[in-house]
Amino acid sequence: MSHSEISPSNAHRWMRCPGSVKLLRKVPPEMGSSDDASLGTRKHALMAQFARLFQSALYLGLRMSDVVAADFLNDHPLMSDEIDQETFGNQLVEYAEYLMCDRKHGNGPVRTEIELPLDLSSLSPDMRGTADAVIYSHDDTTIEIVDYKSGSMPVTPHANEQLMLYLIGALQMTSDGLCKYEGDHIMTIAQPAVENGPLSFRSVTVSIDMLRSFMFDAQTKAAAAINLKNALRQPSNEACRWCRAKAICLAHHEWAGADVLIDACDKEGGSKMSDQLVKRVLDNRKSITALIKSCQDYAIGKLNGGDDFPGYCLVEKPGRRSVIKSDAVKRDLGALFGLDCLQPVGVGTLDRLARENDVGLDFAITRGEPKMTLEPIEAVSEDFKTEEENENE
Ligand code: SF4
Repeated sequence: MSHSEISPSNAHRWMRCPGSVKLLRKVPPEMGSSDDASLGTRKHALMAQFARLFQSALYLGLRMSDVVAADFLNDHPLMSDEIDQETFGNQLVEYAEYLMCDRKHGNGPVRTEIELPLDLSSLSPDMRGTADAVIYSHDDTTIEIVDYKSGSMPVTPHANEQLMLYLIGALQMTSDGLCKYEGDHIMTIAQPAVENGPLSFRSVTVSIDMLRSFMFDAQTKAAAAINLKNALRQPSNEACRWCRAKAICLAHHEWAGADVLIDACDKEGGSKMSDQLVKRVLDNRKSITALIKSCQDYAIGKLNGGDDFPGYCLVEKPGRRSVIKSDAVKRDLGALFGLDCLQPVGVGTLDRLARENDVGLDFAITRGEPKMTLEPIEAVSEDFKTEEENENE
């Protein structure tokens, strides 16, 4: 069993749907990580590195203002154009200051552990996790778990399974474990309220009694997920949103309204679809769209792994074009087309302006790596035919 099958970060799924753990073993492994995931990973690493630097500086008697985020980010190998240096620099300082602050923990200094590895094998044999930050109050009565989320989809700390598991792990690491710390503890999500905005810190308290009953629940669900042949599969928005088994999960197909879509497809070429059926498709559009995406990923995973997938193949498509985000390019575009340098311009607009002004755009446009995309085999044969025909003309 791999470590990630049962972990705090996917507890929102396996605690709601223990049956997902074994079903996911039948899904081809993910190929690489998405651009969003890699951006999130880099932001996470930068947050942790800066917070550690900030912490060391304070231990050495420097002031908070002595640690300058802009200097830290300048030429940092994890930086890229997608990260706005100024706003992200402000977030780094907000995060680091929060971790060193004692405002929620009485007046004494706090002890903060950054990127703390946690052993949760008491709940499930291979369960491990790493808390972004754990803050221990000066009098050892309160623990605060802080989790940084870089994405714009709001995450609540309320009854957050991942944070509850981190809290249990952090409590277990203290000499008195769950016995001494009888007070409430704190779970905090640090996340930009809007993309590229300041960080907001949303906290909830959790009692030790709640933690104790949650611990037994988590232990039971993890054991069911690993040991039961047919553990319960329970679809829900929270469980299924990131579950990669959607394509092959019958419970999910039923829940997501796939039958509605199939009904609609069956009407093709026959009598007109009723408004009621169109409405049912629309009512289920979000889950149907997610299901189709999951089916695509599943088929791509099989083909990438060297297996067949009926009626489909992978075709290399050119990478997406995008506007180069640099001050020099903005300045040149401003001079060429009279554009306001502060306004972001899309490729489509630039193409139009280039045609109207009869200028080339090589200096302003970059093309991403070619990507393998899923295509029906007949469509590919048609494409080839057309290309050959074109060449013969
Ligand atoms: S798709 Fe949903 S119901 Fe199916 S296994 Fe995944 S989480 Fe469970």
